[in-house]
Amino acid sequence: MITDQFNRVHDYLRISLTERCNLRCFYCMPEEGIRLRPRSELMSNEEVVEMAKIFVSLGVKKIRLTGGEPLIRNDAKKILEDLSKLPVELAITTNGILVNDYIDTFRSCGIRSINVSLDSLKKEKFKFITRRDYFDKVISNVNLLLKENLHVKVNAVVIKGVNDDEICDFVEWTRDKNAHVRFIEFMPFDGNKWEWSRGVSFLEIMTKIKNQFGEDVVRIKDGKNDTAKNFSLRNYAGTFAIISSITNPFCDTCNRMRLTADGKMKNCLFSQTETDLLSAMRRGEDIAPLILETIWEKKKLRGGIEKMEDFSKQKNRTMVAIGG
Ligand code: SAM
Ligand code: SF4
Repeated sequence: MITDQFNRVHDYLRISLTERCNLRCFYCMPEEGIRLRPRSELMSNEEVVEMAKIFVSLGVKKIRLTGGEPLIRNDAKKILEDLSKLPVELAITTNGILVNDYIDTFRSCGIRSINVSLDSLKKEKFKFITRRDYFDKVISNVNLLLKENLHVKVNAVVIKGVNDDEICDFVEWTRDKNAHVRFIEFMPFDGNKWEWSRGVSFLEIMTKIKNQFGEDVVRIKDGKNDTAKNFSLRNYAGTFAIISSITNPFCDTCNRMRLTADGKMKNCLFSQTETDLLSAMRRGEDIAPLILETIWEKKKLRGGIEKMEDFSKQKNRTMVAIGG
């Protein structure tokens, strides 16, 4: 088992397949893009699978593929197929643009749950946030996933003055859709010009929803390692949740580890240190002790960031290069 000094068992690995993306969401990726690492520095599909096997041998039970946009990698299907042979629950986080090309692969690989990022239900605003014109494609792919009876979680990062006026629209959108909308507090990463004054807190989100839907809002049970607080509305097909990493972090039950596309392990989204597993693996070293050591060093709370004012002092990667 992979445990830290606070008795947290880590059995969930998020693997970033790429730092590239076909969108430019302003909260994640700088407008000009990022300096991409040469291909030779990134994990090949065989290396992704080899890494995954080692983590699984140490007790990992769930693997989520992310990025960048994981589905733009041209060997993504092969990676999904190879990982689906491991004894793990396989999941994926995507911006949804290429989902229609992968529906059969999702089915054959036993993927039941897909997280799709969608920050606005309005075409023009979607374009403003993502700096690209793919709204219709994403909406049609969300509908396709729902039609195929996949469990769809829609991730919306809430930014003041941008999409906070759509919080209740998103909830209303779940009236006849069996989707789970997750409102995410805006988090700081390199290059995203974060200021908490642009963020919208758990309390503000909840107040807007309660003001509109009142007593119909019902708190529902969270999963064991959930990062979200979950709610439903009476007689609505879908549910919603709030991920409050800034105002109300969920570190106590954290079971997550991250592997970047260039094979660096991070023990927390906010950690400022990384362990170079890929170089060690390429040298033929046993990386299991490095993995155990990296988690043992994990800080109790948000990579060691205790106070709000410390967020802006942190040195991290851009989100697109970490893998959300
Ligand atoms: N491209 C895929 C997507 O958009 O779903 C996967 C990678 S993306 C980095 C993963 C998740 O991180 C998305 O749901 C995105 O909204 C979230 N994210 C990115 N930057 C964020 C930020 N600054 N604060 C909160 N969430 C963020
Ligand atoms: Fe790309 Fe996802 Fe980041 Fe948007 S949030 S820029 S889709 S990686």
